Amino acid sequence: MTEEKAPQQQQQERQQEPQQPPPYWRKDLLQYPFVKKAILNRNLQPLAQLINFALFTFVIATGFIGISLGAKNLAVVFTWILWSVLLALVLTPLMGRSWCFMCPVVWPGEIIQRRLWNRFGTSSLRNRRWPRVLQNVWIQDFIFLIFASWMVVLVTQPFVTAVAVILLMSVAVVVFSLFPRRQFCRRLCPMGSFIGLYSSFSPVEVRVKDRDTCLIPPEKGGCHKECYVGSEKGYGCPWYEFPQNMVSDVDCGLCTECYKTCPLDNIALNVRHFGVELESEKVKRKPDEAWRSMILLALPIVYTAVLFGPWSWIKNWGDLLLYNSSVGLTQHIFYVLLVADVVLGLVPGLHYLASLGAKFLAEPKGVSARTLFVNYAYAYIPLGLMLWVGFNFSLIMMEWSYIPVVASDPLGAGWNLLGTTHLSWMPFALPIPIAEIAFALLGVFFSLKVGYTTLRRMFPDKLQAIMALIPFAVLTATLAIIFLWFYV
Ligand code: SF4
Ligand code: SF4
Ligand code: SF4
Repeated sequence: MTEEKAPQQQQQERQQEPQQPPPYWRKDLLQYPFVKKAILNRNLQPLAQLINFALFTFVIATGFIGISLGAKNLAVVFTWILWSVLLALVLTPLMGRSWCFMCPVVWPGEIIQRRLWNRFGTSSLRNRRWPRVLQNVWIQDFIFLIFASWMVVLVTQPFVTAVAVILLMSVAVVVFSLFPRRQFCRRLCPMGSFIGLYSSFSPVEVRVKDRDTCLIPPEKGGCHKECYVGSEKGYGCPWYEFPQNMVSDVDCGLCTECYKTCPLDNIALNVRHFGVELESEKVKRKPDEAWRSMILLALPIVYTAVLFGPWSWIKNWGDLLLYNSSVGLTQHIFYVLLVADVVLGLVPGLHYLASLGAKFLAEPKGVSARTLFVNYAYAYIPLGLMLWVGFNFSLIMMEWSYIPVVASDPLGAGWNLLGTTHLSWMPFALPIPIAEIAFALLGVFFSLKVGYTTLRRMFPDKLQAIMALIPFAVLTATLAIIFLWFYV
């Protein structure tokens, strides 16, 4: 499984960075033997991927041959009610990139790399670099936005959902065939955009136990950086992470290879408090990720307005292919522009105004509004995640009854396998307002906590940091109130 050592200049630079243990509480789950056994098991990941691959193959099939009514078709109900709710409500907030561990999208591509490349691949193929100009997450965010603007179509049209899944898997196969490791995941996957960003808030992290152990030279019993280059026990990190220097989990796919390859048993799977990574000064703040945070903050508000808001025409205009034949291309383009305006214009614009306000109030020396814009954008990650949690909570509470219906009749063909085909729609609306308030308050609390820590690092004076926080806090509270307005 040993891969050729890629000339990773970036890795070498990061290798030289000094790093202290993180200044927060954490506990290594590998001290529990059953967790360690599971992590070191070579069959667990392929098995999980295979099961999910079979499930998504079924989704594709039902999308094409099943009933065209989304609410009665397994493709739509499984993907956009069960899977997406599980992802946004449970897996990502509580276990970071755990979905990436079992993701079926990459399964065929990774088999090509690991089986065919090893036999027929050349070293130039194994060392091929991702184009420098694309070494950011702009394209990933753009693809996410395309999917997002077609959300109404995806959640109502089974065959569009099926096409989307096929498209993702096909592009993944092509990229996996042309580039080493998981460039598709790091640079293109739209789901990775969401999971990656919000995994930074989750209470799970992959870190080395003791960095000094990593620095022991090989001649004195140290390692040969097997976690990065691979060994006969496993593959080099598919995500191009170098555990020795990891300070963030945004680009760690929890694939567990480094646990298998590290000869010194030096990798931990820690639990930590929510949001501590976002408060860490070691995490580099980047403009592309800052924009990702803004985009993902705006989208649950937009989705809530479209699906649960009082303006049914917005939903109709978003649904170019649906039952409403009166919707024309012009209205649909207007809908897409409206979503783009809010997501790329209004919310980031308000954040820029808040950055200008913070600069005006705190009068910092040498800190530009742009720096404030980029650095503070990370503080919206908790609020953004909690709004997604809230949106998905209301979705499952309102639409859960479709799940037993399609489980009993996946194609909408009149079967009654489980006796639940004729279950009527039974929303649980009662707890939604209380839960939404709780989620929004949690999001505001954590966002302001991260925001204050961020500003405190940028301003030597405490009062300056408090003054700078005011415009951001007003924006944070305003966005939470707008979101809640649709529910309460
Ligand atoms: S980044 Fe996307 S394709 Fe890659 S493992 Fe995660 S969800 Fe799957
Ligand atoms: S192989 Fe283990 S000891 Fe060596 S750098 Fe990687 S994590 Fe550290
Ligand atoms: S090899 Fe380790 S650091 Fe790399 S993605 Fe897998 S779990 Fe994360």
